[in-house]
Amino acid sequence: MNLSFSVEYEDFRREVRRFLEENWTDADRASAPEADLQTVRGAMGGGVRTDARATEFRKKAIERGYMYRSIPRQYGGGEQPADPLKATIIAEEFKRSKAPFEIMGQGPSMLAPTLVEKGTEEQRQKFVEPTLLGKMVWCQGYSEPGAGSDLASLRTSAVLDGDEWVINGQKIWTSNAHEADMMFALIRTEPDAPKREGITYFLIDMKTPGIDVRPLRQMTGEADFNEVFFEDVRVPRDSIVGERGQGWLVSRSTLKHERALIGNASMARRTFDGLVMMAQVIEVGGTRVIDDPVIRDRICAIEADLLAAEYNGFRLLTLGAKHADAGIAGLVPKLHSTNLGYKITKLAMDVLADRGLCAPGEPSAPDMGGFSTAYMWYWGMALGGGAPNIQRNIIGERGLGLPRDVQ
Ligand SMILES: Cc1cc2nc3c(=O)[nH]c(=O)nc-3n(C[C@H](O)[C@H](O)[C@H](O)COP(=O)(O)OP(=O)(O)OC[C@H]3O[C@@H](n4cnc5c(N)ncnc54)[C@H](O)[C@@H]3O)c2cc1C
Repeated sequence: MNLSFSVEYEDFRREVRRFLEENWTDADRASAPEADLQTVRGAMGGGVRTDARATEFRKKAIERGYMYRSIPRQYGGGEQPADPLKATIIAEEFKRSKAPFEIMGQGPSMLAPTLVEKGTEEQRQKFVEPTLLGKMVWCQGYSEPGAGSDLASLRTSAVLDGDEWVINGQKIWTSNAHEADMMFALIRTEPDAPKREGITYFLIDMKTPGIDVRPLRQMTGEADFNEVFFEDVRVPRDSIVGERGQGWLVSRSTLKHERALIGNASMARRTFDGLVMMAQVIEVGGTRVIDDPVIRDRICAIEADLLAAEYNGFRLLTLGAKHADAGIAGLVPKLHSTNLGYKITKLAMDVLADRGLCAPGEPSAPDMGGFSTAYMWYWGMALGGGAPNIQRNIIGERGLGLPRDVQ
C-alpha cells in the first residue's frame, strides 16, 4: 500500500483546484446546502434533483473529464481511462470546494452503468445523460413481499400481448418511488422456467396508467419508502434491458454498483467527525463529554475501526490502480461500513442521552435531531442492497472459499 501521491498526481490536483477556483465561486459555495444527511439518503434512495447553476457546473466538469469518468462521452459521461487515484483526488477537491459532484442515487450510480454495459444503443441515448444530470429520477423495483434476500422468488409478472407487456403484481420498499420518473424492475416473464431464468429487466415509466404508489412511513417519521402496485400496466415491448429471461444477469451488474455505492467509508467518516465535534461541545455536570474516559475509550475504538475501513479503501485503490482483482477486500466494505455507521450513531445517541429524544429538526436539540435520524437510517443502510447475513454468506463463500449455504 502506498499512501502518498506522486508528482504527476499532485500536478493533477493543482489542475483540478484551478478548475474549481475558476468555475465554482465563493458565492456558489456560500449557497451550497450542507449535504451530509442528504448523502445518506442519496445512497439509499436518492434521486437528488438539482438547480440550473449546479447543472451548468456539472456539464463543465463532465466536459473536463472530472465526473462520470467511466461513462462514454457519447452518452453524457466524462470518458477517461480508469484511474482510481485521479478519481480520488477529484472527489477530495470537489468536496473541499463544496462543489456539486456526481449525483448519487439509484439512477446515476446503478442504472446508468448497467445501461452502458447491457442496454441497447437507443436506451443509452435516451436515458443515460438525463439520468446523470438529475433530470430523470429512477427508483429500483426489485424487492417484493416474500422476495428480499431470496430475490429470485419474485412473483410480479409480465405477459406479452401484441406489442406490449402487461404487468401485474407488487413491489415493496421502493425508495423514492413517489418522486421517480422511471423504475428499473425485475419481473417474471417465463413462469415455467427455473426461477432465476424466468426474470426480465424492465424500464417502466412511472406515469403509466395502472401504477399505484403508496407511501410506507418509517421510524424516522418520514416516508421515503413505498409499496408499488401494478394492475394491468401496459408498457412497450422494447422496455426490456438484455434478452427476455436474462434479467437476473443484468441485475447482477446493478447490484455490484449498489453495494459499492453503500460501502464507501467516507459517509462513516463524516458521521464520526460530527460525533467528535459534538462530544467536544456537550457538557454533563460541567465536564465536556469528550473528557469522560469511558466515552474517549469508545471513540478511540471506533476510530480504529474507521481507520481500518479507510485503509481497506486505500488498499482497494492501490489494487485498482494496478488493475488487480480486489478479492476479499472488495467484499467487506458494505457490511463493515454500515455496521460502523451504526456504532458511531449509537455512541452519538449515548452522548446526547435524553437530548437525543428530540424530534428530527427540533431547534433546541444540540444537533437539530440529525443524529437520531442518522441512527435510525443506519439500521436501514445495513439492510438495503442485501442484508448483513447475506453479505456474510458472500464473504464466506466467495471470499474465504467456505462451502455454499443451503439453497
Ligand atoms: C433503507 C432501505 C432501502 C431499500 N430500498 C429498496 C429499493 O429502493 N428497492 C428495492 O427493491 N428494495 C429496497 N430495499 C429492500 C432491501 O433490498 C431488502 O430489505 C433486503 O434485500 C432484505 O430483504 P427483506 O427485507 O425481505 O428481508 P428478508 O430477506 O426476509 O431477511 C430477513 C432476515 O433474514 C436473514 N436471512 C434471509 N435469508 C438468509 C440466508 N439465506 N442466510 C442467512 N440469513 C438470511 C436476513 O439477513 C435478515 O436478517 C430497501 C431496504 C432498506 C432497508
